Amino acid sequence: MVLRDTLLYLAQNDNLRNFVITNSATRSVSRRFVAGEALDEAIEATRVLNQRGMHVSLDHLGENVSDDREARAATQDFITVLDAIKQAGIDANISIKLTALGLDISQQLCEENVRRLLEHAHKYSIFVRIDMEGSPYTEQTIDITLRMHQQFEHVGTVIQSCLYRSRKDVEQLIAQGVRVRLVKGAYKEPRTIAMQEKKDVDHSFVQLMMMLLLRGNYPAIATHDEAIINATCKYARDHGISKEAFEFQMLYGIRRDLQEKLVKQGYNMRIYVPYGSQWYPYLMRRMAERPSNLMFVMSNALR
Ligand SMILES: Cc1cc2nc3c(=O)[nH]c(=O)nc-3n(C[C@H](O)[C@H](O)[C@H](O)COP(=O)(O)OP(=O)(O)OC[C@H]3O[C@@H](n4cnc5c(N)ncnc54)[C@H](O)[C@@H]3O)c2cc1C
Repeated sequence: MVLRDTLLYLAQNDNLRNFVITNSATRSVSRRFVAGEALDEAIEATRVLNQRGMHVSLDHLGENVSDDREARAATQDFITVLDAIKQAGIDANISIKLTALGLDISQQLCEENVRRLLEHAHKYSIFVRIDMEGSPYTEQTIDITLRMHQQFEHVGTVIQSCLYRSRKDVEQLIAQGVRVRLVKGAYKEPRTIAMQEKKDVDHSFVQLMMMLLLRGNYPAIATHDEAIINATCKYARDHGISKEAFEFQMLYGIRRDLQEKLVKQGYNMRIYVPYGSQWYPYLMRRMAERPSNLMFVMSNALR
C-alpha cells in the first residue's frame, strides 16, 4: 500500500518524469505497456490484436494540459486518430481524457473540444469512451457525458468501484442508457470518499457488475482479476445474459493469456491500447498496480 501510494505520488514528479522518459532503457521497457510513440505503431498493434479476434480502444496519451492551444492540439490529434481508424479499416474506438481536452482550463473549452470530436466520430460511427480520472473530476466527467449523450449516442464513460458514490452514478447512467466501463480505480483517493481495502473494492465491483449486466447498455467489465471475470461469466450464464450483451476489457500487454482464453470461449474482448510520447503517468499507474512491474522496469533501467 505504501509503495502504491508512493508510486502514485511520483507519477506527478517532474524530475523523475524527465529521468524516466529520457532514459533509453526505461523508454524501451515502457513498450510492454504502451504500443509506441507514433500513431502508425498503434495502428499496427491494433491490426495484430484484431487478427487475434480482439477489439481495441485507442488512447493517445496525454492529460492535464494547461493552455488552450495544447487542448485544441490534443483534440486535433484525436481527430487524426479517428481518420486513421477509418482509413486503415481497423476495429477500434477511442478513449479520451477530459483533462487532455482542457478541463483544467475551463469546462466550456473542454465541452467544445469534446463536441468537435463527437461530431467527427459520429460521421464514422465510432464510439468514444470518456476515461475517468481522479475524484476531483468525477462530477464534471459524469455531467459532461450525460449532456453529450443527449445529442450523441456513441459516447460513454467509466465508473470506479472504489468510490462510495459509484452505485448512485451507475443507477443514473443506466437510467439514461449510457454505456459504462466498470473499473476498480487507478488513482489514490482519500478514505472519506473511497474504499481503501482491496476486498471492499472487489466486492463493490461485483455488485456494480451485476447491476450493469442486468440493466446496463452493453457494459464493459474492465479488469484482469480472474476471480471477478469468472464471477461475471457465471452471473451472465445464470441470468441468461448473452455473451453479445457485454464485453470484457483489458490493458495492452497485461494478462495476454487470459485475453486469448476469453476470446476462445467466445467472449467479446477489447484491448485498451495507449500510445504517444506522454506515457510517464500511465506507466507509473501500471507500476503502482503491481510492484513486480517496478522490478521489471528498474532491472532494465539499471542494466
Ligand atoms: C480497459 C481498462 C480501462 C481502464 N480505464 C480506467 C479509467 O478510465 N480510470 C481508472 O481510474 N482506471 C482505469 N483502469 C485501471 C483500473 O482502475 C485498475 O487500476 C486496473 O485495471 C488494475 O485493476 P484490476 O481490475 O486488473 O485488478 P487488480 O486486483 O489490481 O489485479 C488483478 C490481477 O490482474 C493483474 N494485473 C493488474 N494490474 C496489473 C498490472 N499493472 N501489471 C501486471 N498485471 C496486472 C495481476 O495478475 C493481478 O493480480 C482501466 C483498466 C482497464 C483494464
